[in-house]
Amino acid sequence: MPTGHDAQVRALPVSPSTGALRPLDLHEVRVTGGFWSDFQQLNATVMIRHAEDWMERVGWIGNFDAAVEGRLPADRQGREFADSDVYKLMEAMAWEIGRTGDAELEARFQALVDRIEPVQEEDGYLNTHFGRPGQQPRYSDMEWGHELYCFGHLIQAGVARGRTHGRDRFVEIAIRAADHVCETFGPDGLDTICGHPEIEPALAELARYTGERKYLDQARLFVERRGHGRLGEIWFGPEYFQEDVPVREAEVLRGHAVRALYLAAGAIDVAVETGDEELIGAVTRQMSRTVARRTYLTGGMGAHHEGEAFGDDFELPSDRAYSETCAGVGAAMVGERLLLATGDPVHADLVERVLLNVVATSPSEDGHGFFYTNTLHQREPGTTAATDEVAARAASSLRAPWFAVSCCPTNVARTVASFGTYVATADDDGVQLQQLATAEVRTTLPDGCPVALDVETDYPHDGRVRVTVREDATRPWTLRVRVPGWATAGAVLRVDGEETTVLPGYAEVRRAFRAGDVVELDLPVRARWTWADPRVDAVRGQVAVERGPLVMALESTDLGEDVNLAAVDVEAAPVERDGQVLVRVRTAAPTERDWPFPAEPAHPDTVADAGLVPLVPYHRWGNRGPSTMRVWIPQA
Ligand SMILES: [Zn+2]
Repeated sequence: MPTGHDAQVRALPVSPSTGALRPLDLHEVRVTGGFWSDFQQLNATVMIRHAEDWMERVGWIGNFDAAVEGRLPADRQGREFADSDVYKLMEAMAWEIGRTGDAELEARFQALVDRIEPVQEEDGYLNTHFGRPGQQPRYSDMEWGHELYCFGHLIQAGVARGRTHGRDRFVEIAIRAADHVCETFGPDGLDTICGHPEIEPALAELARYTGERKYLDQARLFVERRGHGRLGEIWFGPEYFQEDVPVREAEVLRGHAVRALYLAAGAIDVAVETGDEELIGAVTRQMSRTVARRTYLTGGMGAHHEGEAFGDDFELPSDRAYSETCAGVGAAMVGERLLLATGDPVHADLVERVLLNVVATSPSEDGHGFFYTNTLHQREPGTTAATDEVAARAASSLRAPWFAVSCCPTNVARTVASFGTYVATADDDGVQLQQLATAEVRTTLPDGCPVALDVETDYPHDGRVRVTVREDATRPWTLRVRVPGWATAGAVLRVDGEETTVLPGYAEVRRAFRAGDVVELDLPVRARWTWADPRVDAVRGQVAVERGPLVMALESTDLGEDVNLAAVDVEAAPVERDGQVLVRVRTAAPTERDWPFPAEPAHPDTVADAGLVPLVPYHRWGNRGPSTMRVWIPQA
């Protein structure tokens, strides 16, 4: 493998050995305040514990005890992939312990390792759902069994642990599992793939962590095998698990959104480590078209409830948006990898959009409930989920504490715990601030030049980003601060009292920085109208409001009326007052008909001016009890 960056010991979920940019790790970036610090605090104090408690309660952690005690399959709880959520929880814990050194969390992590370790079999196999007397044989259901998917999450958790703590018992479990996968599915082994991609990015990252080429070769084998019809026919068709077209020949992401995104992430990892420009180009093109044609305003992906899948180009219905939280995590994974490979800040824009408007939407304000799907139009007020029951359906109308399939909460937890690794990148010429957050950035450029920056900002609520240099440079270097794609006018860079207008991309300052130097970026965080491409039929004639990077929503809690027939006056700009964004809304009473399609244009009978109505950031909707909500609002 090429060795540009030192990939082994860096505390990062994705640490390419080469590429345009090197990500700064958890030790180089400390998030110290503001939006993301609050979110990390909620994760550390509530969400991680919540997920752990629920998995004890529903028996998913207990499955490992049952395996040791010989009570399987009789006592097996949860779906076939339940082990994976325990591993995702452990990955979240590993990042959190790495971030804060929390001793109590470390003890809980060790207690989980104690319960998992004895379940691993002699040859490295580890799964509570397969292979015992009375259970299906190993690898007898590649379409739906999720065995390699579970290994993928185990390996990612192992890499997180190794990079934040060092090689220990848990890391060894993950490595033994990976060795087993390589032996079983290598060039001379079982010539097949898993119905749910995930092993691909995991093995590629393990190769980066250990320096062992065989894991990368296995990841590449899995990527290349897909798309040739190795898996059996299923109801959703081969597209569901990306078996319809080989990865390097596909033109767009399709099928099950989370599967497609995890596969894309793994394909980029393989391409970067093997210098496969063709493959990087293919995935970049697929992702560009997906963003241009198959992505919601929130960054959400997946328009179909059936198959949790991407729809056709421009098929983006608000009220049927699936937009799974995990697809948001997957989009951030892909965006971050493309950013590191290419250096193009447009990929960091996607990461920002999806983290703030999908990943941040999932948890409730108290951290005890989660959206699995993220609709952009709630037609009927939802029902408040019981706090002590598992929600049977993913498309729960309000946040629920836990789900029968509960992939999303732990995915949010591991992403939030590792958020610091999205903040900044470096190259030989300097440092780039990618995600705008209050943070301390401390690193060294390859020639030894020290970089110490304190970033202060109330972003995403305010557009002022103040960067203070804390150490003298030994030579000139370039500080770049990402100017998001939405900031098309009015962004200003201020250095030594001099102001320059900057455009989306990177705002740059190059000099031999001295301690005390201050660079300020002022982004035009103001409410603005957003329109849709007319080919997005579902929202034709409608507008949305965004404020900086945040998508806004109209919620019935603020309107006092059902929002379905609400319309906005777009002649007037959205108003900002006392920290609120307000728009002039008209409401209408519907006309009841026996047949909803009259021969004349259906004007509502009564239209009332509801005055200026506040909008809420989309990620905060549904926190004040059942409500209806819409992001796209008809123009009056
Ligand atoms: Zn999910």
